[in-house]
Amino acid sequence: MFYTKFRAIMDTKDNSFQQVQGVPIVLTGSATDMSDFKLSPFRAFTGGFPTAIVPRFLLRKYWYPRVPTNGDGTAKYAPYGLRKIEAVLIREFGEQTVAVAHPSNLEKFVGPETKVIGVSSMEPAGTGFVSRTYTSLVGFGGEPVAAAEFRDLITKPILRKWGAKIVLGGSGAWQIHNSKLQKKYRIDCIVMGEGEKTAVKIFRKALNGEELPRVVETEPPNPKEISCIVNPSIFGTVEITRGCGRGCKFCSPMMRKRYSFPLEHILKEVELNAKNGTRMIILAGEDIFLYRCNNKFLPNREAVVELINSIASVPGVEFIQPAHAALAPVVYDPEIVEEIGPVLREKSYWVTDKTRHSSVEVGIETGSIRLVKKYMPGKMLPYKPEE
Ligand code: SF4
Repeated sequence: MFYTKFRAIMDTKDNSFQQVQGVPIVLTGSATDMSDFKLSPFRAFTGGFPTAIVPRFLLRKYWYPRVPTNGDGTAKYAPYGLRKIEAVLIREFGEQTVAVAHPSNLEKFVGPETKVIGVSSMEPAGTGFVSRTYTSLVGFGGEPVAAAEFRDLITKPILRKWGAKIVLGGSGAWQIHNSKLQKKYRIDCIVMGEGEKTAVKIFRKALNGEELPRVVETEPPNPKEISCIVNPSIFGTVEITRGCGRGCKFCSPMMRKRYSFPLEHILKEVELNAKNGTRMIILAGEDIFLYRCNNKFLPNREAVVELINSIASVPGVEFIQPAHAALAPVVYDPEIVEEIGPVLREKSYWVTDKTRHSSVEVGIETGSIRLVKKYMPGKMLPYKPEE
């Protein structure tokens, strides 16, 4: 595999190995998105800090160093969303047609044969809640680090050198659209929403040299057709559920149909990550207790316990980090935490005073019945707001 991909990107006719021919589809992300922040998912939130605090050349070296590379120069780890798109593109167009690279390695993959560069984004304009919260808390320093890194990436001359189309996707793509930065950043197409189904159409058009739509709102994929990733993700991220359904007025996962991935699908991705040395597994989803819950939001203790125990027993999994959890399911069934708690503690990355403790992010919660009814009508399910 290494040899064939290497041939695909280098001109070997004169044996000079000088001229990069380019891979037809190159996928990348900014320096902050393409780092594991030294294996600390919470440190990654500091991408929302203002740039004036520490010079970025120091941050790149010591705070968010680039992910390691494979022998052919591709990125060993990449954001999970980018890996999902990579998987569907490889399935459709073949492995030799797609390369995922850190921004500092783009020169090795972008050449005259490159037709399209897909850029993943999380916080490209610094207008998400993380950046806004941190910049206002810190109170000075202007542009968030993540936005500055995105600007550095999107203005790199190599992106435009051979006339490849630039397609922007990822959870932060809306920021560029809303901030009216598409023209300034010379982005051909912004893709917003779940990408699996629509990405193939957009990238096929780009490969054929056809015009791309300026902005695309995606069609949701059939969950049963969502591919497993085929290369490891940063933080060993695996998706356990997609969508939510609790109905908060301010939330985009709310728009997606709730779906729990089958255990075999999840374990396949866990095994791939663990085998490739991610050490950590992040369980991506809006609330771990939504995993195979019923349609009245009653948590499914057996399923959650089986999920955690199965992942914990995969060789190579040192740490398990659930991304999010709501409080109402814990009130409904405290035993669920009693059962998974010891395993999560044992597999926790966090140690304070020589004691391991597990953590999870809880979203916005409130004790105000008025606010719950007005903005988060399903947040407390399976209870009523008054309860
Ligand atoms: S509970 Fe969280 S993920 Fe679900 S709709 Fe509300 S804010 Fe969104």
